[in-house]
Amino acid sequence: MKSSTPDINLIINCGSSSLKYKVFESGTENCLTGGLVERIGAPDAVITHKACNGNPLDRISGEVKNHSAAISMVLERILGAGGFSKKQLKAVGHRVVHGGKYSEPVVVNDEVKQYLKEVTFELAPLHNPFNFEGIAAAEKNLPGVPNVAVFDTAFHQTIPDFAYMYALPYRYYTKHLVRKYGFHGTSHQYVSLRASEMLKKPLSKTKLVTCHLGNGASLAAVGSGKCEDTSMGYTPLEGVMMGTRCGDVDPAAVLHLMMCEELSMHDMDTVLNKQSGLVGVSGISNDLRDIIKAAEDGNERAALAFKMYCYRIKKYIGAYITLLNGADAVVFTAGVGENSPPVRAEVLKNLENIGIITDPVLNGAMISGREGEISSASSPVKVFVIATNEELMISRLADKMT
Ligand code: AMP
Repeated sequence: MKSSTPDINLIINCGSSSLKYKVFESGTENCLTGGLVERIGAPDAVITHKACNGNPLDRISGEVKNHSAAISMVLERILGAGGFSKKQLKAVGHRVVHGGKYSEPVVVNDEVKQYLKEVTFELAPLHNPFNFEGIAAAEKNLPGVPNVAVFDTAFHQTIPDFAYMYALPYRYYTKHLVRKYGFHGTSHQYVSLRASEMLKKPLSKTKLVTCHLGNGASLAAVGSGKCEDTSMGYTPLEGVMMGTRCGDVDPAAVLHLMMCEELSMHDMDTVLNKQSGLVGVSGISNDLRDIIKAAEDGNERAALAFKMYCYRIKKYIGAYITLLNGADAVVFTAGVGENSPPVRAEVLKNLENIGIITDPVLNGAMISGREGEISSASSPVKVFVIATNEELMISRLADKMT
């Protein structure tokens, strides 16, 4: 019989000035509530608390000094007015961008915290310190409740050395840990599991190419449920073209530009991460909807940016089908992957000879969180659109660990 006071998991994703959260009934797919605290540290922070269907329940503005204050406000809404008790809270699951050596989620203890601080802050200085703030805030506000750290990099730890090494002097790997890590792992893992269900095939027998195309974008080659390669690298800059990030580029071009434009390291970092990609090529926007509209209105640079974006995804799909020696399915997920029929159509054009035949009607209809197949019935390789759910994956992993 189902308990009237089920265990719950609180899932937290902390950014530099924001905290996103969701609450799941433990052991199930039920999302009970969620929300977002924005502008942490500012006098006009905003907390939006939502019902499971996304409808706002409560929205207030005021000072939220730090992440600990943000968590205590979230807990007031969940454990107070939300009707749940502290006793029901089984685990807090944290999205942590960089896990360094960790290939699995971990229950946070002193040793884990020390490793995260000593090693991963340097590997992901823009993300991990804030993810860590979330862990510290949860420990302070919820003593005794286990914290589980789920890493974006962990799913990619199965990538073999010949794929994760850069052809740089070996000492840079041993001394500075410079290698491919990959990101979006929780999303690639979630959609791989879902794709194996849709294929009605055990995960251990599937070969998948997963395309997480959102603000950031990465592809993964997943064989038997294990990641064999992914397009992002030491940082989330490598790989396909993104909204503001360049993706793959000749490093010598970067050195040349630094020299002839007299750019500092910081300047060049800004160019590569914030001024490149769709916005850099088009000069219009980092949002594909704007690019597609401008291209339709005849803007040539927007049309070029769109073509480059799709072409580079296609190249990775081809490479990953090759290294998997075939594929059962290609999966599209995240903001662009789930919502943009034009991108999927362009990426999947002329791939019949490698077994991918798209159904244009199914592709056109697959938008707004819908999930399903967009390949024709005769296509040897299936193509799925799957709405990613990283928070649910973190909740499942938190269940497994506690
Ligand atoms: P995410 O990072 O997964 O939240 O994805 C956000 C990105 O998805 C935005 O930057 C948009 O460029 C993109 N996006 C959302 N809806 C659409 C759409 N209908 N067509 C093209 N791109 C979209």
